[in-house]
Amino acid sequence: MSEGFDVDLFVIGGGSGGVRAARIAAGHGAKVMLAEEYRVGGTCVIRGCVPKKLMVYAGRFTDEFADAAGFGWHIEPPRFDWAALKASRDAEVARLEGIYGRNLAGSGVEVVPERAVIEDPHTVRLTGSGRRVRAKFILIAVGARPIHEPLIPGAELAIDSNGVFELETQPERILVVGGGYIAVEFAGVFAGLGTKTTLLHRGQTLLRGFDPEIAGALGEAYAERMDLRLGRTVERLERAGSAIRATLNDGEQLDVDCVLVATGRRPNVEGLGLERVGIALDDRGAIPVEADSRTSVPSIYAVGDVTGRAALTPIAIREGHAFADTVFGNKPWCVDHRLIATAVFSTPEIGVIGHNEDVARRCYGEIDVYKASFRPMKATLSGRNERVIMKVIVERASDRVVGVHVMGPDAGEIIQAVGIAVTMGATKADFDRTIAVHPTLGEELVTMR
Ligand code: NDP
Repeated sequence: MSEGFDVDLFVIGGGSGGVRAARIAAGHGAKVMLAEEYRVGGTCVIRGCVPKKLMVYAGRFTDEFADAAGFGWHIEPPRFDWAALKASRDAEVARLEGIYGRNLAGSGVEVVPERAVIEDPHTVRLTGSGRRVRAKFILIAVGARPIHEPLIPGAELAIDSNGVFELETQPERILVVGGGYIAVEFAGVFAGLGTKTTLLHRGQTLLRGFDPEIAGALGEAYAERMDLRLGRTVERLERAGSAIRATLNDGEQLDVDCVLVATGRRPNVEGLGLERVGIALDDRGAIPVEADSRTSVPSIYAVGDVTGRAALTPIAIREGHAFADTVFGNKPWCVDHRLIATAVFSTPEIGVIGHNEDVARRCYGEIDVYKASFRPMKATLSGRNERVIMKVIVERASDRVVGVHVMGPDAGEIIQAVGIAVTMGATKADFDRTIAVHPTLGEELVTMR
């Protein structure tokens, strides 16, 4: 370890990016300390991707039961037990948290269960014990959190996505506000579990930035599954007996048991001491970094949601890994943020890699768009009205596939696999010469003409 320092690396934040960076740096021989003020695992493991996906699975049994009847199964009217799901979900999260902690310890990383703030470019203060730690490098990996400030009168009556995991009972009626990833995912969960769900979004289509056709198709699917209100806003919330009354911009009033506000997340930078070292935030409140995750202070790096690059777990993990290899492993590399495969765990699910049709047209001018829309075989016997939509977008001049968009069952799984081909620069001709796997949903991607 370098002289005059207590550690080579001090990581602030024990989420996906921080944990990966800490373990890889320790593997390169660095002495690493990591501070986490809440629970090791961060948003993804504790109150994001993992417990959310477990709830998504729970909500999707409704469709499974409907399909099962079409295949000759006789099922007593199914009954859902919120407390049972909460208990098993929380136990699984605790199990994963334990694994994260043990993996860190096994890698030789010292974990401090305290809040850490930056004192100067090489010093971190632990606010619980008051202890100061001198570090050659500091990595900020503190993530983001739901936007909290009272946007409307009565906003304190609403919960955010963190609050969903604390609900002890299933709301009979819920109003979900927002049209991004979190709003559409949880609206799908609650509707699937039998909660009377209203999804209210200020825009005319859900999922701004996604392919308009796919976003429109999700809107159509959601309009059948729940009460979908587009182009509307909430003016105020107030108590009405045991209910919460939401007054909308057109004067309509909705009485619900729970209001979930999912209108974006913001980097967790308050009180971190950034001003003491002269790190200025960008206009979204994020920490600006170079391609190698270095901040304006040479000894301080930042990875993950706090940098506002792409707020996705796999990106944070990769940024943390690249940082550790570059700074401690003598293996410099940078994360390529240009082509990111992603999934929205709405029901139906969406998987995307590359450009949507509008952006592709702007970037490449001449494009070809191939589309398929069909009912998945599994839903045919029950007659359930589900559609699968697939789009492949091709740059005409080079024949390169520059976008693939899928809405339907297992869209995330499909996009993960096809994402390899798109990342490798596959052409439409490559798709066409790939033999179809029959009968599958994914085969449509290689049979589009
Ligand atoms: P998003 O930024 O994705 O969506 C925010 C939504 O809230 C938008 O529909 C936006 O509308 C709306 N909104 C913003 N401000 C207001 C306002 N003042 N009044 C009414 N509506 C408003 O944020 P999320 O919180 O859903 O998710 C944050 C990020 O977390 C995502 O972008 C994604 O990167 C990540 N995430 C990824 C997941 C995954 O990989 N499956 C799952 C969950 C989160 P408008 O479009 O009009 O701006």
